[in-house]
Amino acid sequence: MPLDSNYTPAVEDEEEDDILDDDLPGPSSRGKKGGIAGNKANGKGKDPGRHAWEAEYKKSWDIVQEDESGSLESAVESLLARGRRKRALMADTPLRRSIIRHLFIILDLSESMNDKDYRPTRFEVILGYLRSYVVEWFDQNPLGQIGIIMMRDRLSEVLVPMGGNPQEILSVLSDKRKLEPSGEPSLQNGLVMAKGGMSHLPTTSSLETLIIFSSISTADPDGPSTIHTVLQDLVTNEIRTSIIALAGEIKICKQISERTGGKFGVALDQDHLKDLMWETIPPPATTISNPTTIGVRNALAAASATGKNGVTGKTPVGDLMVMGFPIQLPLGGETLCACHGLLKKGGYLCPRCGSKLCDVPTDCEVCGLMVVSSPHLARSFWFLFPVANYGVLAVEEVMDSSTSDTCAGCDVEFPDVTSIEEGVAQVEDGVSPTGRYRCAKCRNDFCADCDLYIHDTLHTCPGCSQ
Ligand SMILES: [Zn+2]
Ligand SMILES: [Zn+2]
Ligand SMILES: [Zn+2]
Ligand SMILES: [Zn+2]
Repeated sequence: MPLDSNYTPAVEDEEEDDILDDDLPGPSSRGKKGGIAGNKANGKGKDPGRHAWEAEYKKSWDIVQEDESGSLESAVESLLARGRRKRALMADTPLRRSIIRHLFIILDLSESMNDKDYRPTRFEVILGYLRSYVVEWFDQNPLGQIGIIMMRDRLSEVLVPMGGNPQEILSVLSDKRKLEPSGEPSLQNGLVMAKGGMSHLPTTSSLETLIIFSSISTADPDGPSTIHTVLQDLVTNEIRTSIIALAGEIKICKQISERTGGKFGVALDQDHLKDLMWETIPPPATTISNPTTIGVRNALAAASATGKNGVTGKTPVGDLMVMGFPIQLPLGGETLCACHGLLKKGGYLCPRCGSKLCDVPTDCEVCGLMVVSSPHLARSFWFLFPVANYGVLAVEEVMDSSTSDTCAGCDVEFPDVTSIEEGVAQVEDGVSPTGRYRCAKCRNDFCADCDLYIHDTLHTCPGCSQ
């Protein structure tokens, strides 16, 4: 499996800014402009001295406008168009993404989490979001693993060790009594613990932390190591650190995320907080890994040197990884597992050393082999080989050619071309005036609903796979 090693966060940032500058106002684009992507995009504001996160709050319901006849149809259509356009811009930028991710969520459980500026409290809101975040994260990163660290009373504690089982994390997150906020957080202790928890991981995987920081200060231990030396360690170990602050912009937080290639954002309200969190779900655009000299890697690099790579001008270096597909055990008697040392029913056998593991994906506790199931591997290809965007069809194109009258996906009849008025054809770019979207490969036409379903859920073109 090819993996790259050129870590160029600057390139990624540029591309994102391009997308954002073109983006239309809306709940999510407001979020990005205001926070994570930096202050650049907000430069058009009236007062240049203001911070991005102080930007005016835009109400999502103001964006939806009725047309002359009092209908919301056109407004809804333009919202859909916006989504399509955003996706088109995303898909057209050639990016390398890492599919194997290890993420530590560092949760600030200091007293400030009891603040009631989020209803009912910050604590409740964060826990609720985290539960859906974890599910969504594993859905999009089937080969990834998540661990959770909490910071309270100036200490940090591993709440959930790094693992690939969302159920385990969800059950810990629903136990509120164990998570009671108290004291002050220590950002330094949290980061040191995350770094330690990832020290054994191979450089082929993307190491990340996501810090949800509610406090406005950090109470770090007195000693030779300071938060700045920890930051230097994070940079050397290439641990991408993203921070979402609830209270305000904190200089050290911003510094940490900027220097490690992560994202920093200040949540303006609950929806914005969700936007910021969800932005960290898709796989990051470049992996952070040091090239090691392996014969195969050099061969791959030599092969790809002939290909064109316009992003950085440097040759992406390929890499091979060892993975194993485990044997699933029947739910018979209880046996001892290698990962927890507990008697459990079911589980999987490592194909290399034969030890029993509770869940996949995981790294075998005994031989260190990465054990994945094939559906997980297949799903992780969504982002590597996305379905190309379907082209919009103009009225003339449908008139000219002998096209089918029904959608190739759901068999719904397309609207009659002759009845389409000139005015309707002038809708925002991205929306087909004929209601048809054509796959460039298989030349099948799909309706708008099928188009969304194929690109967002199915991730494969039904026409091409026939
Ligand atoms: Zn186990
Ligand atoms: Zn093993
Ligand atoms: Zn359809
Ligand atoms: Zn197709």
